Amino acid sequence: MVSVKTEVASDTYLVGIGVSPGISIGAITLLGHRSTVEDRPIEAADVEAEIERFNWALSQARKQLQEIKETVSRQPHLREHLYILDTHLLILDDEMLVGETERAIREQISCESALTKVLQHLRQMFENIEDEYLRDRQSDVDAVGGRLMRILTGEHERSITDIEQNTLIVAHDLSPTDTMQLDREKVLGFITDKGGRTAHTAILARSLEIPAVVGLETITSLVYDRLPAIIDGGTGVVILNPSKETFTEYLTRKQTYEYLEKELDSFRDLPAITTDKFKVALRGNLELSSEFPLARKHAAEGVGLYRTEFLYLGRSEPPGEEEQVATYRQILEEMQPHPVTIRTLDIGGDKVVSGLTLPCEENPAMGLRGVRFSLREGELFKVQLRAILRASAYGEVRIMFPMISGIVELRTCKRLLCQVQSGLQEEGIDFDPKVKIGMMIETPSAVLLAPFFAEEVDFFSVGTNDLIQYCLAVDRGNEHVAYLYNPMHPAILRALKTVCAAADQAGIEVCVCGEMAAEPLYTIVLLGLGLRELSMNPASIPRVKRVLRQVSRQDGQALLEELLALRTSKEITICLEQRMRMLLPGIFENALI
Ligand code: PEP
Ligand code: MG
Repeated sequence: MVSVKTEVASDTYLVGIGVSPGISIGAITLLGHRSTVEDRPIEAADVEAEIERFNWALSQARKQLQEIKETVSRQPHLREHLYILDTHLLILDDEMLVGETERAIREQISCESALTKVLQHLRQMFENIEDEYLRDRQSDVDAVGGRLMRILTGEHERSITDIEQNTLIVAHDLSPTDTMQLDREKVLGFITDKGGRTAHTAILARSLEIPAVVGLETITSLVYDRLPAIIDGGTGVVILNPSKETFTEYLTRKQTYEYLEKELDSFRDLPAITTDKFKVALRGNLELSSEFPLARKHAAEGVGLYRTEFLYLGRSEPPGEEEQVATYRQILEEMQPHPVTIRTLDIGGDKVVSGLTLPCEENPAMGLRGVRFSLREGELFKVQLRAILRASAYGEVRIMFPMISGIVELRTCKRLLCQVQSGLQEEGIDFDPKVKIGMMIETPSAVLLAPFFAEEVDFFSVGTNDLIQYCLAVDRGNEHVAYLYNPMHPAILRALKTVCAAADQAGIEVCVCGEMAAEPLYTIVLLGLGLRELSMNPASIPRVKRVLRQVSRQDGQALLEELLALRTSKEITICLEQRMRMLLPGIFENALI
């Protein structure tokens, strides 16, 4: 198919989903248009030969994937993602792809035509899936289909590892396999038509620190090779064919961003302490063990939230006890002498694990998620609890339960934990008997019952991502109501105040581990609330620390009082921004933080 691209107008602004921060300016390389071919009939006598050709393509694809696997396994920071290649190998054996293509060939069409048909059918099936995570898995099937098509057509594939310097890659979709192979020296960033926040590609971009914007829908039909472009992976802005003025503006922004990043390094070894000597522990949120280096690079004081569900994603069987012990132990040893808060499995909602049976739900965010799922799957839950406890022999572990909405739920979790502890004791297996037990505060009921809960746990961790969603009845992933999703809503400030007061009254620790903790503008508010512990994506730690070191707890308390008297999110935000510009003009004068 030949497509003629018209000249792109100067300063064409597009906005997608920024999934990995940073500004990149470069020239576009357009990769792999989706390969499709028209129906080509074949003679009945040629059917077997065509099936043989398809089988040959399958074996070639297997060989290619094995080779990539070998290369990837030699790179320690990528080993974590080998399972994606295994997923692609599994797809090559899948009946839906292989069996259906063979059946289509038997209807006397060419191998390529048959594959095109099957892929189109699969694509339609995936597009109708409501669940974002499962829908994102379409990219894996597309990647395998594209590989087969390239083998069959002999179409020269521009190798992702063989591209020019200063390249911004544009693709319909980048498979995680492609992303793993990106040469960081040459690739400055990538932009795709497809993609979502939970796709493996987005996760990998962040762990590789490659600026990326996804979900632009039509970018591949707008651009051509060597077209100059700018991407801002923080805001999701893409500017095609930038004018001289825009280029200069973004060059300055980029330089300032990089200068800021460098300058932030100088905070690395400084304590996170306010001008009136209020110490705050800044910990990291982790999903994959490949994020350890980032946590260390930014001097995270331990892990405030380890999202263990990522250990269960993208595989057909849940991880066994031994595998979990090894993973948790590794994190603990890497993070010594700091504590690691391990959150038990939090699936359901937008996180679906293929190896576990979840019911199809009308309203998954309010369905069988978090501990509700774990309590239903008691055996699976006990395996995880045993593994966490066993790992506690190797460092300071804290166990945390997600999505608690009532006292009975919490008590049942604790009872199961006690049973597991007794079992380990009987077997003479080492664990820390004083392991701290905590819960996420993510539901309005947990806020309202905080004083009761505080008597039953050692710590609270406020998951503002979900708390905001449930308190304000705003789906955290729905772009149509995103304007209502605001941590500075007066109801959220009050909810946080209630939780902190309950923790304070009972003398237990409280942390905020939702995205709100990573936003420097809110640092002073959290300080005013008296939070001594914040957990965030590691790259945000220096930014938050920089603010923290220049304000006082008293500033925070005074400002919080002022904000609590206001009645709308807008008034609160304006007031907060004004005060921060006055307090720290160097940081909040421009929006570059
Ligand atoms: C939260 O809800 O704020 C949280 C930290 O948990 P998750 O984002 O994993 O739901
Ligand atoms: Mg949550």
